[in-house]
This record gives sequence, structure tokens and C-alpha cells, in this order.
Amino acid sequence: MLSRNEITGAGVNYMHNVIVFGSINTDMSVSCTRMPEQGETVLGSTFVLSGGGKGANQAVTSARLGAKTYMVGKVGSDRLGSVRIAGLEEYGVRTSRIRTSSDVATGSALILRSKDDNRIVVDPGANVCVTFDEVQDTLDTLAQPGDIFLTQFECLPEVVKASLAYARKKGLFTICNPSPALPIDDDMYKTIDLLCLNEAECATLSGIQPNSEEDRLSALNFFAQKGVKQTILTLGAQGAVAKTADEVVTRPAFAVNCIDTTAAGDAFLGAVAACLSYDYSFDATMEIATATSALCVTKLGAQDAMPTFDEVQAFLASHK
Ligand code: ADP
Repeated sequence: MLSRNEITGAGVNYMHNVIVFGSINTDMSVSCTRMPEQGETVLGSTFVLSGGGKGANQAVTSARLGAKTYMVGKVGSDRLGSVRIAGLEEYGVRTSRIRTSSDVATGSALILRSKDDNRIVVDPGANVCVTFDEVQDTLDTLAQPGDIFLTQFECLPEVVKASLAYARKKGLFTICNPSPALPIDDDMYKTIDLLCLNEAECATLSGIQPNSEEDRLSALNFFAQKGVKQTILTLGAQGAVAKTADEVVTRPAFAVNCIDTTAAGDAFLGAVAACLSYDYSFDATMEIATATSALCVTKLGAQDAMPTFDEVQAFLASHK
């Protein structure tokens, strides 16, 4: 793997910004031996309160890997909102473009965990109050051509769509993680430089369940025909397969002791954005994203499980 100086050129300390527009949530999760019935209370254990939201998770990963990362989003003017902003700052995410609203609560996810079942209620709260004007203002204020714009589907779809189009118009490299899966229309596909999605999202968007190699190629071709320049399909413990204009790249996952797959996809996405902000090659980007997500699944949680650049480098060195 190349060092950052080799990537950026001798002595030239230049890299693009990563601008992540997306959700900021508080995850409140508790474990129980069985799910409560209607009207019932059961005893739980191991309550975990942590930062979540796909946007915030991806921004944390990108910042942990050393990329200059801005989060664009919204929290409520409540206690949890300030905790989330402070948490993002601790991980090195730039938070000046996160707005606060007194009309809504900070996004939250209430998670019940049991041995063979998870039940989650998400209140998107402030995340669905981000307006296109706010994203546009951020892009006008700090984006430069060549910067990376990364977004998902946890904010309002029409705002995500308009933001991708505007980012592309301003010469940014646009990455879309269509999660949770929602239909994408033909105009929107054309504004995406890199689409990165998992198997379930692939099935929803393309109608192709990517179980075999042949089906995966058909799905990648489906997105290419829609006008997407590069598509990465992540395959959980099987790794990822990608299609660019000139090649199909297959990258097996690293064999690790998997503890918790929460935010594996977010780790992958954040790493892709960071690597592209350093102008890494597509192959190197895939390698680092695969290593970053492998390290993520070896730890409990989302943002706390994201590795640093040095940890990824050490992991890759030990897996050569
Ligand atoms: P999502 O979290 O969006 O469902 P995936 O499950 O496809 O995404 O995982 C994203 C990436 O995380 C995979 O491409 C792979 O590199 C890595 N990954 C996921 N599960 C494992 C695992 N059990 N062991 C190693 N790497 C994993």
C-alpha cells in the first residue's frame, strides 16, 4: 500500500475534502433473552448508548483514516444532539456544517437485541429536516472540484437527489450508498459516479438477487447501463465485487474473528471515500475498504469500531 506522501506527491500535502451528507443518530440498544409480548415488560441487560446513523458512521470512518471530512446534517437542540456533535469532533470529523433545530429531536434508533432477533424503531427526527438549500450552501462554501461527496438514503430522498445533482454539477466526485434501499430514477443514476451497495439493496434496485457470479455481473451491468460510472457490490463475509469502465475487480473479505457486523458497510463506504480523497487507485481503495470493514466487524458497535489509518496499515502488513 502506498503511503500518503507517495500518493500526494513528494512533499505536496494535498488531498481532497470528503463531504458526507447524511444521518446523525443516537443508537440505544439493549439485550434481552426474548422479545416482550404486547403490553409486557421483560428484563434486559447490556444497555449500550452510542453514536450511529449511516452518514455519521461513514464520516467517522473517513476521518479516522485521516481524510479531511466534513459532516453535513442536522441534530435537535437537545442534550443528545450536543453529545453527537462532540462525539464526531472527537473522531476528527469537522462539524461546522451540522445545523441544530429546536423544532425536532436528534435522530434516534431504539434497538432490542435478542439471540436470534433484532427489532429496531428509528425516529429520523432532525435528519429529515435537512433542506437542499442547506446542502447547497455547504457545497458553495467549502467544496472544490475533485472533492468527494458521499450520501445515503436516511435523509429526505428528494434532498439527496438534488444534492447529488448539484455536487456533480460543481465537479465533485459523487458516491451514493442507497441504504436503506429506495428506488432510484434514471436521472438520478446519471449523477452518481460511484454506487456502493449490499446484496439486499442490489436486489431491490436492480431486481437481481446477486447470488451467483453471473448474477453479480448482470447486476453490475444493470447499474452501468443506467449511467453509473463505477459500482461496488459488497457481499458480507464474501467480500466485494466491483465494475469500473475498464474492469471487474473481485476482492475477497479478510478472514477475521467476526464479533458484530453492525456498520460493516459504513466502514467500507467511509474508507472508499477517504481513499478516493487521496487519489488512491481503485484496487488500493478496494483493498483498504475491505481491510477497514474487516477490522470493524472484529469489534462491537459502529463508530467505536472504526479503525485508524495506522491500524489498517498494520492489518494489511500482517495479512500480506
Ligand atoms: P452491509 O453492512 O451494508 O450489509 P456487507 O455485509 O456487505 O454490508 O459488508 C460490507 C463489507 O464488510 C464486506 O464487503 C466485507 O469486506 C466486510 N465484511 C462484512 N462481514 C464480514 C466478515 N464476517 N468478515 C470479514 N469482513 C466482513
